[in-house]
Amino acid sequence: QAQEPAREAPDQQAALQTLLEEGTRMVCTGRTHTDRICRFQDLCYSAEAEEFIFFHGNSSLMLPSLGPRRFQPALLDLSSVEDHNTQYFNFVELPAAALRALPPARFLPDVALIANRFNPDNLMHIFHDDLLPLFYTLRQFPDLGPEARLVFMEGWGPGPHFDLYQLLSRKAPLLREQLKGLGRLLCFPRAYVGLSKATTWYQYGFVQPQGPKANILVSGTEIRRFASFVLRALNVSVAEGRGPGPGPGQGYIVVFSRTLNRLILNEAELLLALAREFQMKTVTVSLEDYAFADVVRLVSNASMLVSMHGAQLITALFLPRGAVVVELFPYAVNPDHYTPYKTLAGLPDMDLHYVAWRNTKQENTVTYPDRPWDQGGIAHLDRAEQERILQSREVPRHLCCRNPEWLFRIYQDTKVDIPSLLQAIRGVVKAGPGPGRPKRAQGPYPSKVREARLSVSWQAPWNLKFVKAKEVQYEVWIQEQGENAYMPYILTHQNHTFAENIKPFTTYLVWIRCIFSKNLLGPFADVLVCST
Ligand code: UDP
Repeated sequence: QAQEPAREAPDQQAALQTLLEEGTRMVCTGRTHTDRICRFQDLCYSAEAEEFIFFHGNSSLMLPSLGPRRFQPALLDLSSVEDHNTQYFNFVELPAAALRALPPARFLPDVALIANRFNPDNLMHIFHDDLLPLFYTLRQFPDLGPEARLVFMEGWGPGPHFDLYQLLSRKAPLLREQLKGLGRLLCFPRAYVGLSKATTWYQYGFVQPQGPKANILVSGTEIRRFASFVLRALNVSVAEGRGPGPGPGQGYIVVFSRTLNRLILNEAELLLALAREFQMKTVTVSLEDYAFADVVRLVSNASMLVSMHGAQLITALFLPRGAVVVELFPYAVNPDHYTPYKTLAGLPDMDLHYVAWRNTKQENTVTYPDRPWDQGGIAHLDRAEQERILQSREVPRHLCCRNPEWLFRIYQDTKVDIPSLLQAIRGVVKAGPGPGRPKRAQGPYPSKVREARLSVSWQAPWNLKFVKAKEVQYEVWIQEQGENAYMPYILTHQNHTFAENIKPFTTYLVWIRCIFSKNLLGPFADVLVCST
């Protein structure tokens, strides 16, 4: 069996010669800076100037050729967060001859994926903005993959969960700070710059109040594929029951607690009440007291996850299908305005039940007006504004990220009102699978029906013989030419004569498509034009 040759340090002299002659070559995908990822040959980085450099040589290539639009506002977003002006990527252009006047170039051996982490201090951001997009960008381009070198350019230190980034590739990720130590002028013989945004589902409210992204492209299938990868990489096997917590096959509830702020003040009472109500063991975890692998081991087998709103709830992506996510909101915080975890739980095929509970009793909240502003303190505001915030019963919609009223309210501690919480959970758990949401059928969509004729008949989709469709139906629309209205029919045979409401000497347009399992709608066949 042929073995892939080990990727050795490139012949530095030959690599320099190539760069001098050919220059940098760049070809990108994407029509705008927000959906662009670029592939480079010989992209360099000056640690002193803290700039990427594009060298012009005889074979240089820069596609798209944007001219000055390259700066309006940038070539591309380095992070998965859309169009954030601290996350733009661009490069400086130099003639290749300038290499003779610059510090010696050092060429790195690995294929690099260069990107920004958005906020590596926060677990939600780590998963949503970085890990999922990195995971799928590595799978988008054939020369990336498990040997790629991740290069993080945002300039932060490793952060509390660097080990999670290390799972994605066999090579240790490089931070911007480390590049200096590798050379004053570093060159990447092959590099991709930018991150796929296909898996992100939430926008944080930089231009409009936060909420689900307008056009979500990810489903539970991709989220769960990623989750299995992480579980395997962390050596967690699902339903194995090693480590802390109840054994396999036993339903149990995980209460995810925060220990520094946004506390549940009556946690012991809550645990008892949940255990009694659902006749299940109940365990608490926290990021402070448990190794992350132990947290995901527990969550990945749990029947229910209960937590205050906060980044730790991103671990819901490890829950098994059918589990319940219960998100608790402090006083004056409207659950409908902060939905990253609700949106996650509701992704197609994610198969999670979601319950939001909100503290409506002011006497059950504990506020911290004297803390620093970034932990919700309001003492720095003028008296009238402090008074207004204290009187307010709900934080009005706002933009990210420093709204003092929002921070004040979200960092409250809460005594959970047990009866109202249990009632909220019962409402969803009793409703059975997919509360109010019809379950999306699984499996491939039908292809076009073929050979439609006036009489009217057609053949089954080409892929029908390969897939097990539960039920095959045909939807036929008859539309009089020039009219907007049409008559829809659902048929089970592959031919039909339309007699009702059909006028003589009239031209009709006939649209036909196939439906599998009641809701997998195939595309329409080319329209038929028929005259009576
Ligand atoms: N965090 C934690 N315990 C706490 C408070 C915060 O583990 O008591 C973690 C939290 O999960 C997140 C990070 O610290 O990963 C930042 O928390 P912050 O309150 O700033 O963000 P939020 O949780 O509201 O997204």
